[in-house]
Amino acid sequence: VLEVRDVTKRFGGLVAVREMVFDVNHNEVLGIIGPNGSGKSTMINMISGTFPPSSGSIRLNGQEIAGKPAHRIARQGVARTFQLVRLLPELSVVENVIAGAAFGHRKRWGAEAESFARTLLERVGLGRQINMPVSSLTYINTKRVELARALACEPEVLLLDEWLAGLNPTELETGIDLIKSLRDEGRTIILVEHVMDAIRSLCDRCVVMSSGAKIAEGTPTEVLADEEVIRAYLGADE
Ligand code: ATP
Ligand code: MG
Repeated sequence: VLEVRDVTKRFGGLVAVREMVFDVNHNEVLGIIGPNGSGKSTMINMISGTFPPSSGSIRLNGQEIAGKPAHRIARQGVARTFQLVRLLPELSVVENVIAGAAFGHRKRWGAEAESFARTLLERVGLGRQINMPVSSLTYINTKRVELARALACEPEVLLLDEWLAGLNPTELETGIDLIKSLRDEGRTIILVEHVMDAIRSLCDRCVVMSSGAKIAEGTPTEVLADEEVIRAYLGADE
């Protein structure tokens, strides 16, 4: 579905992502893991069109999307959640999700958008909060709204940037189960994650980044046993 080829991102003198190459196949959960500051969010931001790569190519179903504006890429079938939750604070839960339905892969309006949004909110466990202002929600619930909004776009590729970060153990368990249910219905997902349990139980394959470059690729079991990967993680704590 998605082909990333020689993608590099520079911020002034800093190379945040260096010549990244990977594919994401249909119905696959690809993990992007690596220490803090290794370039994971930067990679996601280029795929979603938050900002353009400095060079390289990103193809969705054979079509170049690198450098296109975010709304165009969303229309072509890429939806995401943000590491720092970004909702429309003056709107209610359901209105935030309806906004997703209007900007996504297949536009939905009016009553159709609203009933679709309700279904998705029940799916993520927010069936009883739909009319609440998002400003009154707990942290986990703002993450749930973001996920529902991304699903409202009916994405072909769903990008989750540390969606599980900052959850307590119970929330984490429900969160993992929710992503599992998305995977089991055949969705294509890129999962940026630090939570090892989640990586092991959810990812078909992982790409490991360190200082902007890919240092390993394989199944979770393979990469987590890789010495270079272990060194990269240990080094990050120094
Ligand atoms: P984390 O696990 O902490 O979320 P990450 O792997 O997502 O880390 P990035 O956020 O992609 O890392 O950052 C990679 C590098 O690029 C870091 O050195 C960061 O400071 C830098 N960086 C990211 N975004 C910008 C920006 N908009 N302008 C300048 N530098 C940036
Ligand atoms: Mg990040």
